[in-house]
Amino acid sequence: MRIQHTLGGTAHFDGFGYWSGQDVHVSLHPAPPNAGIFFRRIDIPGSSAIPGNIRCRGESPRRTTLIAPDGSGAEVGMVEHLMAALTGMGVDNVEIHCDAPELPGLDGSSGPIVQAIQSVGLVSQSEPSRERRLLCPIRMEANGAWIQVIPATDGRTRFQYEIDYGDRPVIPSGVFRFSPDEDDFAKEVASSRTFILKHEAEQLRQHGFGLRVRPEEVLILDDNGPLQNKLRFVDECARHKLLDMMGDMTLMGFGILGHFSAYRSGHQLNARLVQEMWQRESEIFEIHSDSDKEPNQGELGQGRFSDKKSRMEIPNPM
Ligand SMILES: [Zn+2]
Repeated sequence: MRIQHTLGGTAHFDGFGYWSGQDVHVSLHPAPPNAGIFFRRIDIPGSSAIPGNIRCRGESPRRTTLIAPDGSGAEVGMVEHLMAALTGMGVDNVEIHCDAPELPGLDGSSGPIVQAIQSVGLVSQSEPSRERRLLCPIRMEANGAWIQVIPATDGRTRFQYEIDYGDRPVIPSGVFRFSPDEDDFAKEVASSRTFILKHEAEQLRQHGFGLRVRPEEVLILDDNGPLQNKLRFVDECARHKLLDMMGDMTLMGFGILGHFSAYRSGHQLNARLVQEMWQRESEIFEIHSDSDKEPNQGELGQGRFSDKKSRMEIPNPM
């Protein structure tokens, strides 16, 4: 049985939002057992915590955005690479502070976030992880793309992503598979970068988005390959789509024993699968392991976890 983990200290990373171009500072703080993953916009005093949960997901193109449940309008955009890093590294409880509405794009991957997490290490906590075993298949389809999850007959969580951009040689079709139970997220997935086709990047720029992003910092692809850049893996694009999928599945708020697979799925379709699982939670899951306390994702007792005293109470077996 897995037990819950938080960070061994406060981790930091900074940068600018790919979409907004706005500078942003992020710090990841240890949080008590059952706190889950939640955000605080420290530039908006008095705004509530924003749980990293499907209930708080807002609609925004090509990325995943969370909106505060208190109606304050506080939001955090492009959370998927951080959410994937937390799941991939086994962080259950963390309080995330940021001072702008969009998380930094960094190099387009989760790599710098994983390094920040590794720099402070993890601390195991006293409670069992919240994990659910899926009992029946769930599938979502749209415009020829699909995503599904089926019960894990081998007792492992698995992800599989099939990429298919037609006959574009620069994005070879293929399948990438990853199991957090067997494989190394930091080595296999974290450093794969987001990508965009050159004509899409030009369209976004015309609308005022991505103006600070340079081709050296993100994969911009034309038919000859990446502009002013090199692929880190031959199948880097498929790996990154799997990273996005892992990040989006983290919005369930608990681990799922199931086999996820997707074909050409993106954030919107991923979110529809999570929404469906969330709505049918009591019918489609059984408890694999759990704490006997309710998760709160920062919703209970606002500010309760942001003072130093409660942080110091986190049990540290070291
Ligand atoms: Zn992504």
